[in-house]
Amino acid sequence: MKLSLIVPCYNEEGNVEAFYNETEKAFSGVPFDYEYVFINDGSKDKTLENLRKLHQEKKHSNITVVSFSRNFGKESAIYAGLKNSVGDYVSIIDADLQQRPEVVLEMMEILTNNSDLDCVAAYQEKRKENAVLSAFKTCFYKVINLLSEVNLHADASDFRTFTRGMADAIIEMSEYHRFSKGIFSWIGFNTEYIPYEVQERNSGETKWSFTKLMRYAFDGISAFSTKPLQLATYVGMFSSIASIIYMIIVIIKRLAFGDPVSGYATIVALILLIGGIQLFCMGIMGTYIAKTYIQSKHRPIYVAREVLSYDKEEK
Ligand code: UDP
Ligand code: MG
Repeated sequence: MKLSLIVPCYNEEGNVEAFYNETEKAFSGVPFDYEYVFINDGSKDKTLENLRKLHQEKKHSNITVVSFSRNFGKESAIYAGLKNSVGDYVSIIDADLQQRPEVVLEMMEILTNNSDLDCVAAYQEKRKENAVLSAFKTCFYKVINLLSEVNLHADASDFRTFTRGMADAIIEMSEYHRFSKGIFSWIGFNTEYIPYEVQERNSGETKWSFTKLMRYAFDGISAFSTKPLQLATYVGMFSSIASIIYMIIVIIKRLAFGDPVSGYATIVALILLIGGIQLFCMGIMGTYIAKTYIQSKHRPIYVAREVLSYDKEEK
């Protein structure tokens, strides 16, 4: 039995070695075989250098390093990790030690003792972030669960361990715009959720700014729901009905009471409002068209510049 640890790394020069050492400490004496699959996601610091050093120095035959030709994002890194791993079980874990390797052992314990389970995912019991961001995230989960066919567990991240069968199902989903949380839910399988305590970052800082998170949230919704596209229909229907009612009122006022039709300000406001709504709906349609356009090109999800693999060396 073998476990593959998939570790996406983007500018993690201060973390890769610490991550390796901590994991070795936690994993000493485990009753199963394991491998590391580090993905260097186009880092601009010494991450690749450190990974190369780790791969050579340790002379361990269980480290694979896949290095991207540029930054493709964590979602692509996870995909590359799955493709380059060989374990019967697969774990996705961050390189910054915010997620402790000991939790992976807990996940493995649950998975191997329960043949009905395919996946154990960890969720943050207490979010260690500011209240505004936390409120936005809660709101995001409510909206996506309402709009889409998938059901996302709030607070559950990519930190999870699952079977090869589930990994293969994820690899099958070769869509370009990837949203892991949605993919995990869409493919089904039996998942158990366990709480974990998120740690402070070992070194460096988070890659997720507020605007990046917002974009990620919108990408997630458009990847798993087409309901926003129907918005134009509802808005159109509502404004047509409202304008018919208003037209009748204006005609009655003119004929019955002889009111002069005035209201320059009203007309300007209405034109601007309707123009705004139309542009907004076109923007939503544009988002979907753009995604269809990119997908139709069938570009690869990532481009690897270099792969250091223990298999290849041994052969
Ligand atoms: N990451 C990546 N590519 C990116 C951004 C992040 O591979 O474009 C990796 C990063 O190196 C880390 C993990 O994804 O191992 C989570 O990133 P981060 O710690 O910045 O996110 P946070 O924990 O703050 O949500
Ligand atoms: Mg982190």
